[in-house]
Amino acid sequence: MSFLRLLSRNRLALAGLIVMSVVVLLAVLTPILPLPDPDVTNTAERFKKPFSEGALLGTDHLGRDLASRLMWGTRLSLAVGFAAAVAAATIGAAIGVIAGFYGGRVDNVIMRGVDMLMGFPYILLALAIVAALGPGLMNALIAVAAVNIPFFARNIRGVTVGIAHKEFVDAARLCGMSNARIIVTEVVPNVIPVIVIAMSTTVGWMILETAGLSFLGLGSQPPQADLGSMLGEARSALITNPHTSVVPGAMILVIVMAINLLGDGVRDALDPRLKSGALSRPMPTTMVRRTDPVPQPEGDGILSLRDLQTQFHVKDRIYKAVGGVDLSVRPGECLGIIGESGSGKSVTALSIMGLVSSPPGVITGGAVHYKGEDLIGAPYATLRRLRGDRVAYIFQDPLATLHPLYTVGAQLIEAIQCHHRTSTSDARARAIELLKSVRIPNAEARVDNYPHEMSGGMRQRVGIAMALANDPEVIIADEPTTALDVTVQAQILALLDDLRRERGLAIIFITHDFGVVAQLCDRVAVMYAGRIVEEGPTDAILNAPAHPYTARLMACVPELGEGRRQLAAIPGLPPVVDKLPAGCAFADRCPKAASACRSGDIALGALGPARKIRCIDPEIPVQEATA
Ligand code: ADP
Ligand code: MG
Repeated sequence: MSFLRLLSRNRLALAGLIVMSVVVLLAVLTPILPLPDPDVTNTAERFKKPFSEGALLGTDHLGRDLASRLMWGTRLSLAVGFAAAVAAATIGAAIGVIAGFYGGRVDNVIMRGVDMLMGFPYILLALAIVAALGPGLMNALIAVAAVNIPFFARNIRGVTVGIAHKEFVDAARLCGMSNARIIVTEVVPNVIPVIVIAMSTTVGWMILETAGLSFLGLGSQPPQADLGSMLGEARSALITNPHTSVVPGAMILVIVMAINLLGDGVRDALDPRLKSGALSRPMPTTMVRRTDPVPQPEGDGILSLRDLQTQFHVKDRIYKAVGGVDLSVRPGECLGIIGESGSGKSVTALSIMGLVSSPPGVITGGAVHYKGEDLIGAPYATLRRLRGDRVAYIFQDPLATLHPLYTVGAQLIEAIQCHHRTSTSDARARAIELLKSVRIPNAEARVDNYPHEMSGGMRQRVGIAMALANDPEVIIADEPTTALDVTVQAQILALLDDLRRERGLAIIFITHDFGVVAQLCDRVAVMYAGRIVEEGPTDAILNAPAHPYTARLMACVPELGEGRRQLAAIPGLPPVVDKLPAGCAFADRCPKAASACRSGDIALGALGPARKIRCIDPEIPVQEATA
């Protein structure tokens, strides 16, 4: 089933499949279609034009109905082509498996024989075989199959050699299995996909070869029609009555094209590396499937998220990675998002610009307003214009961010030029300036380095420089300083801090480091299992965490000069987001959990004027939060 789905994602392969299905269906139905006898000659009706009375595709030089001959000919050509492919694949694969499995002298003898066959030019060998056996369709089939055997044998031998030395084959041998049994149960199932792939890409070629032999008069014998012999007989009338050649010629073209497109699709869909999803190219923006009404913008934030929900639909499971997040950031403000690994921070950040890969990602609800404009479901062109220009990202993994085959300078220049008309020399000067601003020493020379020539921290700084390239209004930074040492981290934080003070840059800063939050962020939101559990001014939360989760999280942080203290780890693990418990997701790990915590949904309520909390039993009384 998933094979068909993968195949149908490849449009050309799907087109090939449809065309082939129609052709095969027609070929199968030919005997019961109301067609005139293909072999009855009627010289009075010679060379009738297509679409004439009683002959849809006209007639040939003996007055035989071309439509009827085409259908019967297609039927025969397909049958011979497929039969030749199956025969060549079976014999070739058997030879290849035996040679590859036994190796040594067996391999040598067999493969040198195969090499000898391969030494002859392809079509010449086929001609020689037909010459020896005599003309006729069956002999043409044998010839075509025979010349293709080496191709399969070599292919399958190579695969088998790899398998024959694998541990599971040794294990089977140790179990006492005979060689024949090992070949049948262990080796053959592993080479079948390769055989199918090789076949699907060669059937078209074999049909063409059979047609070639028939064209030369060595295949099907008159009056029997196959596509090649029809073409051969029409050759003498090519100029005077081209339709007699065009009809079978077009059919050969259509069949071979369709089979080759389909074969390529089959090969891709069966390739296990591609089956894992590499073939399902992500869409340029995250898929949006919102059923509830879209929330209106609220407050004065330049970027505001309202009830954002992002899920991953994997087979029949639904992972609720982000389950209704509200956030807002004003110009010049820095909002921190903090939480354990897997709490949905990155997915929230990527959802904003539609960068979660789809499939499997789906945004199922909520809105992201940038200056009052909803970005969820915005046309791709709009997102494309904003991405990296007005709203820039610093991604978590610096190695995956940069293209390995271009210099960092080229990538910075591209980032600038794709949003602004700038001469390359100006953009290059700007790139050097950017590298200097992120404290890359000797930026003039480093600009021509490839990513692999730089250290991890250096690459991360290039990523930061790229985010700054177009003077964005919002920067979404996903753990940008994790790969940096403390001094560089401090410099980068100072740089971001300057930018937001001088130019009113709004920053969403994702981290798991309370120290960084304290240094840079005005407000902080704590995430747990895809939802915000606490939000408020940084000082207030760091000094008096109200949610038990925040309090536990902070208890894990060692403090300098605080003397000896037990660092308390939070017991248990975060819940898996495809099976979230009813009520508070933290209840299972919370020492204060009561039965009310596990029953209904717990809303994000106000705690004093500036703070919000999703807990029915906060760690601090409300008065304290207000004070
Ligand atoms: P973090 O807070 O560490 O950045 P993420 O936002 O990357 O966490 O992940 C949030 C949740 O989404 C995790 O539970 C993760 O397992 C899940 N998730 C992320 N990507 C996928 C995916 N492609 N398929 C299924 N689940 C995913
Ligand atoms: Mg992350």
